Amino acid sequence: GERLAERYLGRRVSCAHCPVACIHLAVLREPYKNEPYFYKTTFVSYDYEPIYACGSMLGMGSTEGMLKVLDEVETYGLDAMSTGVALAWMTEAYERGLVTEKETIVRPVWGDYASYLKAIEYVVEQPNDFYAALAKGVEYASKVYGGTEFALAYGGNEMPGYHTGPAAHLGFALGTRHSHLDSAGYSYDQKMVGKRLSVEDAVAYLMEEERWRQVLTSLVICLFARGVYTPQVVVEAFKPLGWELSENDLKEIGKKIHLLKLRYKLDEGFSFDQLRFPKRIFETPSPHGMLDPLFMEQALKLYKSRVEEELKSLEAAQRW
Ligand code: SF4
Repeated sequence: GERLAERYLGRRVSCAHCPVACIHLAVLREPYKNEPYFYKTTFVSYDYEPIYACGSMLGMGSTEGMLKVLDEVETYGLDAMSTGVALAWMTEAYERGLVTEKETIVRPVWGDYASYLKAIEYVVEQPNDFYAALAKGVEYASKVYGGTEFALAYGGNEMPGYHTGPAAHLGFALGTRHSHLDSAGYSYDQKMVGKRLSVEDAVAYLMEEERWRQVLTSLVICLFARGVYTPQVVVEAFKPLGWELSENDLKEIGKKIHLLKLRYKLDEGFSFDQLRFPKRIFETPSPHGMLDPLFMEQALKLYKSRVEEELKSLEAAQRW
């Protein structure tokens, strides 16, 4: 990030009216192939997650190479995290002999951005069964070709780059969209570094935080500013609009939205029992040391039983 800011940051832009301007654009200056002195200048948006997925995950040693990969991901309208994680899975699968160049067409090598640029084209065009499978994500591709232990995905969604401790991974698994934006498990992990974590507290935090986010996102706030919009501030902000809501009213609304989303997912085929934690996360140390599979399984079970119980109560209340 610092190197990008020093050498490549061209400008920052902002959502309407926001003074923060957290959207960073790098300048990628490329010479024309056949005309000396002429350059094509491209502004490439970057932040932590794309750098993790299309930089570190791919062993990228060239900043310009990473920016080219990010630009191609944007051009094709792909998800940067899914694409980076999928290409990393492909590279490891190739190294382990699970797939060959017959499948990958290019020769995947860590840091070789030219091969990755070609592979991204193939993910979009799907010239063979392998790329058709990879385009469905690493969860699916690893079921066909093997390598589930390093297929970094939760609920079909590729993992973001937060290996801060158990709460982050529980958040990816249990969040309604399997996203790091569903709940800040990573933030909980960071606050708890050096302290003993309990399954009950971690589950309670994740549930409460995701439920409060239902309120915040319904208010259309930026989640970077979520610390400003405390329940007390939201209660006060509603008053001039003629709405007298208590903190508890708001929390109950958040809980109901969260449960209805889960009800919808369960009706559409989602099952807590099908969630899995990729083996790789237990092989890499976190700020809380090595993660304990038992802790994760217990948390998953507790979350599931709480949701099932609360859904029953909600449905009973709705029948009235
Ligand atoms: S994402 Fe949030 S902090 Fe960043 S510019 Fe938009 S409103 Fe501001």
